[in-house]
Amino acid sequence: MSHSANPVNTPEVKRVVIVGGGTSGWMCAAAIARIAPPDTCITLVESEDIGVIGVGEATIPTLMEFNDFLGIKEHDLLRECQGTYKLGIDFVDWYQKGQSYFHPFGFYGRDTPEFSFHQLWLRLNAMAEKGEIPADAPGIISDYNLCTVAAKQGRFAPPQGGADTILSTMRYAYHFDSARYGQMLRRYAEQRNVERIEGIVNSVEQDSNSGLLQSVTLNSGQVLQGDLFVDCSGFKALLIDGAMQSEFVDWHHYLPCDRAIAVQTKLAGAPDPFTRSTADDAGWRWRIPLQTRLGNGHVYSSDFMEHDEALQKLLAGVEGEPVTQPLPLKFRTGHRKAFWEKNCVAIGLAGGFIEPLESTSIHLIQMGIQRLVNLWPGRGCNRSEIAQYNALMTADYERLRDFIVLHYNATEREDTEFWRYVKHMAIPDSLAAKLEIFRSSGRVIPSPEDLFTPHSWLAVMLGQGIYPQNYDVLVDRVPAQALLKNMQMLRMSVAKTAGSMPTHEEFIRRYCETK
Ligand code: FAD
Repeated sequence: MSHSANPVNTPEVKRVVIVGGGTSGWMCAAAIARIAPPDTCITLVESEDIGVIGVGEATIPTLMEFNDFLGIKEHDLLRECQGTYKLGIDFVDWYQKGQSYFHPFGFYGRDTPEFSFHQLWLRLNAMAEKGEIPADAPGIISDYNLCTVAAKQGRFAPPQGGADTILSTMRYAYHFDSARYGQMLRRYAEQRNVERIEGIVNSVEQDSNSGLLQSVTLNSGQVLQGDLFVDCSGFKALLIDGAMQSEFVDWHHYLPCDRAIAVQTKLAGAPDPFTRSTADDAGWRWRIPLQTRLGNGHVYSSDFMEHDEALQKLLAGVEGEPVTQPLPLKFRTGHRKAFWEKNCVAIGLAGGFIEPLESTSIHLIQMGIQRLVNLWPGRGCNRSEIAQYNALMTADYERLRDFIVLHYNATEREDTEFWRYVKHMAIPDSLAAKLEIFRSSGRVIPSPEDLFTPHSWLAVMLGQGIYPQNYDVLVDRVPAQALLKNMQMLRMSVAKTAGSMPTHEEFIRRYCETK
């Protein structure tokens, strides 16, 4: 039996204790309740006095898989959580001031087994440069992306049809009220016998020989014993840092932003089907439209800007009346060297954090849960499986770090000290290799752990001014005139399809009414 081959000598998991009831705690509780054997006792402890971080309103498309796993319906999510659709992110002032580009979730045309679609567009550009076709014939790469064109028109439709249809290239995620999402998950978990305890964890007890966690004791004196402990206590990292002392891998030198201020404002008009990220002097500001309000925030580096200036810039940039007090937040970018140590697994902010530029934190929670479920330590924790878990989670974080670093490093901006720093800083070798390949051949080679598809890398690399020297010679087999004609037809078809979609607002209203 593989489980007894390399055990850490932990007991069978019959009692699971989850510390923390933020998005990560309730996602864990719901998922474990869904899969654990019926005799597993699941307890979640959280403190209303401490509260939750209260941000985290933008997601990426993978969340749909988690909701499907639990059986949460899209229309319930939209209705109960003020949800809107997200087709991608509009990046303003990142490459240069006054310039913007869109990172869509959907695909550019369709890749073939031999080459990626964008190679055709690169070849058109090469033909235009040589004067073989009119200069404006290739257009911009966004013209071939339905998500981008629909987003810019405030329209929405879900993907439909087979791989040969334009509508099948749509892909989307959600913006939502994360507190309400947490409540939905809490109801789901409590209906499946998860016990919620209100209280503050005061101390953590470990076996003096093995170092295994045994219990947590609350302020009230109540003792919660467990076989497996899931640390969802947010940045406090009560168990993984406090008791297990898992080292923190700090990425401040790659990603110097370490502060944020969040404020909600009233939404005037229809919600856009996209997040906006506007680069600022020492970081960036987010704008996330929900059904009746906007989530706004300013993420910045305290090495380069003071709180008061950051707050003033945030408030000067928001639209509409603030409906909440500005909430200041401190964070560290990086992750625990061991996410899982003995019988303690850290999920959510306790495990690590990469700033929210591409809205990936909830996804990382999801990955932590999915892997824990796949390696469920029902017969006790196994050393090799723990090592595997930690290696996979580390790879997720590293690939994601590279993608976020790309946004900062590939810039023409040198107008502030912050931008000069990120433009000239040393970048991870893995990212440097990816950029070198793209610059020379236009190829985007996906790493197995890449969360973002080559289409996402492409959008950001081109959007941030990285243009390849060559295109793939394999596309030369396509006759030039046929290429031009097909690309023109595709652009027209994208424009026509987007124009025939309902507005985003109308789609949400109709969808929620009819379900
Ligand atoms: P928290 O929400 O902090 O929950 C911690 C829990 O632990 C709470 O219930 C608290 O009461 C409990 N607790 C702590 N100490 C104790 C104790 N001693 N005893 C008992 N209970 C205790 N993610 C996205 O996916 N998209 C985004 O757009 C996004 N934007 C973000 C913007 C910013 C500025 C930041 C900082 C984060 C953002 N995130 C985003 C991340 C997202 O907010 C988190 O991943 C998510 O909220 C999960 O947090 P958590 O549950 O790990 O921690």
